[in-house]
Amino acid sequence: MQSTVAAGETRKGHPPGLYLLFATEMWERMSYYGMRGLLVLFLTAKVADGGLAWTNAAALDIYGTYTGLVYLTPILGGYIADRYIGQRKAVVIGAVLMVLGHLLLALPGMAIFYAGLGLLIVGNGFFKPNISTMVGGLYPKGDGRRDAGFTIFYMGINLGALLGNFICGTLGEKVGWHWGFGSAGVGMFLGLIIFLALSKKLLGDVGLAPAPQPVVAASSATPSSPRGFTRQEIDRIIAIFIISMFVVVFWTGFEQAGGLMNLYTNQKVDRTMFGWEVPTTWFQNFNSIFVVSLAPVVALVWSFMSARGKDLSSAVKMALGLLFMGIGFVFMMGASRESELLGKAASWWVIAAYLFHSVGELCLSPVGLSMVTKVAPARVVSAMMGVWFLANAAANKLAGVLGSRADKLGEMGVFEAIAIGAIASGVLLLALAPVIKRMMHGTDQGETPTDSSESDGRPVSSAA
Ligand code: GLN
Repeated sequence: MQSTVAAGETRKGHPPGLYLLFATEMWERMSYYGMRGLLVLFLTAKVADGGLAWTNAAALDIYGTYTGLVYLTPILGGYIADRYIGQRKAVVIGAVLMVLGHLLLALPGMAIFYAGLGLLIVGNGFFKPNISTMVGGLYPKGDGRRDAGFTIFYMGINLGALLGNFICGTLGEKVGWHWGFGSAGVGMFLGLIIFLALSKKLLGDVGLAPAPQPVVAASSATPSSPRGFTRQEIDRIIAIFIISMFVVVFWTGFEQAGGLMNLYTNQKVDRTMFGWEVPTTWFQNFNSIFVVSLAPVVALVWSFMSARGKDLSSAVKMALGLLFMGIGFVFMMGASRESELLGKAASWWVIAAYLFHSVGELCLSPVGLSMVTKVAPARVVSAMMGVWFLANAAANKLAGVLGSRADKLGEMGVFEAIAIGAIASGVLLLALAPVIKRMMHGTDQGETPTDSSESDGRPVSSAA
């Protein structure tokens, strides 16, 4: 039986399982971002330097395909967990596949290289949606700590990204590519061992069983589809789809970090600080640093508001995320204007843009993960997490297309288009927020669904 606490009620501290999921995800993200940072560098490096001497275009093409596919498979991994194996087994299978995938990348040979990428794509599909859903499983419905818990989890993601750039990046570039890829495998292996060793103790029964399938009980609500979804459940699913579409705009802007903003910083920003030229790649770390340092502040704001019964709805928080993203690009427009006039732009423009992007990310991304675990009907919660990640698959592709338009529109044109697009979408989402909230039928604030036919077997940790 689902335990429930009154909406907005806040308990002290967090379930210990959160820190296990934090550590596991931190090592997985270390391996993901560590490998991702090396990928195009390795592909384009000269053969004499141990690389494959591909062209930039070919390397960016496979990079886009890889990062797109990595976010496409979670829908399958989520479905399999919901339906057949439960989230915990799915996470273990995903982690094992990814350890193997990274290790294959550490070996020579093209066929082995592609097999490695394939294992990473499938492994991530099993791992990513399910580890995120399990965080939600730690909190009873209506528990005001949930959003804050996801924000803490999100710090683990970004600590992992920092570790990956630092460890795998340095080993790969300075010692040898295969050492870099191999170290990513070691990171994932550490995550797997930690998870296997402590999950029994710290996770209770969260994620052990597949989600209970529907009991279409006699109820006032009419089951409206062959799979027995009620009208209200369909509304909740549609609400997640609507929000996911807005989120595509956010990630399309966000993903410029590795592409156009990266090239712009390299070519048109004065990176001298204290008499020293800061390497371009270091600018990528500002995002992780801002997220890790500001996450506690944002978590405190949400907890503070929740404790006073003044929760903002998820849609409103995400609209704020879009507005912050848009403001970030206004700073990039400032940079662009300055570099047009003076040849180079001051680096603080770009740093300010990353600051706003990171605050926006904190309003949108952990909140989105949390929202999916609250709003999705329990029996499809992991698959809906896959839908959330699907927005990333689309955005990664779009980001590349848009970024490459800088050739025709100039950077200013692209930055301006994203600023306007993000701010307009933010305003539209704010306007739609009350409707979306209604479509969520109280689940966004963690209330028990008003629909009595809800067969909600969402697991709640006995360790919580
Ligand atoms: N940086 C976050 C992560 O790696 C979000 C990624 C995304 O959703 N694009 O999980």
